[in-house]
Amino acid sequence: MDGPENTHQARILRLLRDDGERSRAELGDAVGLSRSKAAVEVTRLADRGLLEGGEPAASRGGRRSSIVRIAAGMRFLSIALGATSLEVTLTDGELRPVARVTEQVDLRRGPAAVLGRAVELAVKVRAEGGGFLCGAGVGIPGPVRFADGVPVAPPFLPGWDRHPVRDQLADELGCPVLVDNDVNLMALGEKHAGIAKPFDDFLFVKIGAGIGAGIVMRGGVYRGANGCAGDIGHTAVMSPDRPPPQCVCGNTGCLEAYFGGAALARDATAAAEDGRSDFLALRLSSTGALTARDVADAMAAGDHFATTLVRDGGRRVGQVLAGLVSFFNPGMIVIGGGLSGMGHALLAEIRGVVYRSSLPLATGDMPIVLSELGEDAAYLGATRMISDRVFS
Ligand SMILES: [Zn+2]
Repeated sequence: MDGPENTHQARILRLLRDDGERSRAELGDAVGLSRSKAAVEVTRLADRGLLEGGEPAASRGGRRSSIVRIAAGMRFLSIALGATSLEVTLTDGELRPVARVTEQVDLRRGPAAVLGRAVELAVKVRAEGGGFLCGAGVGIPGPVRFADGVPVAPPFLPGWDRHPVRDQLADELGCPVLVDNDVNLMALGEKHAGIAKPFDDFLFVKIGAGIGAGIVMRGGVYRGANGCAGDIGHTAVMSPDRPPPQCVCGNTGCLEAYFGGAALARDATAAAEDGRSDFLALRLSSTGALTARDVADAMAAGDHFATTLVRDGGRRVGQVLAGLVSFFNPGMIVIGGGLSGMGHALLAEIRGVVYRSSLPLATGDMPIVLSELGEDAAYLGATRMISDRVFS
């Protein structure tokens, strides 16, 4: 598919993607064109199959409706890689899902196997969802050099270092592809359709297997000089009470080494084994291994150890965020990721620390909230990213 021919056409397409169908007259006003000039651009876009100028009226004379919408057959693809999952979503031109498939996949199997499977699933959702594919956005759980779409030294995924993910998928899917870090894409998803939509400057914090932040600045994702802006999981946090734990990155005392998924599993197992938590001991004896989910269940059951663990973690996240608030002055902080039901307890701790330790001018009207999109932020961000590129 060829993209828009000029900036007016690009703005028309982005407007229809974000706000849905419009009358021709409204469209002209919204993009700052006279009605006649807007009509010219709409006709050219319709001639090239990118939008529809409305169906001919059913009863009388084939007069065309004044309602314009993005072409019904337009499709974008999201490939969202998680540490243990692969989700492929096909959307229409307004980024609404039309077909989706999710599988458990171990990314440590390496890029050849995992990307091969992603392409198979893409073929499957395209067969189900029809239409014409205009582009694909790909999210990876690790640092990505955005300019050429390659992962760079991802800590959990040694085999992926500098693999040409973007170029390989563009070749196999036959469409434009962009690759970014998964947290950046979730931040963009929150900007597109989440609670942060009205904000041009905000932070999205993902707390899951890893901990990271997506920085939205002036309405777009800020990636930094090398694409690793927002990698807050490896910020050192204070630990007066014990020697700092070792982190997968090679340092000690990182936020993630205290409160990432692996850290929670480690602390929960220790507490189960040395008698600090009856709930976790019972769970460990029945399942053989503990995860963050078990910590959340223990907390929900009133377990003292689990509650303390989550509160300590929330305070450490809060410490790091308080520094970022003073530095960046965000309009909002959105907390998301696989919080496994700990969200509200975490939010209370994070709010307490950030509001106590940041300057009143920075926090005066800054909400700290839980994501309402949840996992959907990932596909929304991926398709928003690639459609921004296609509609530019
Ligand atoms: Zn680290």
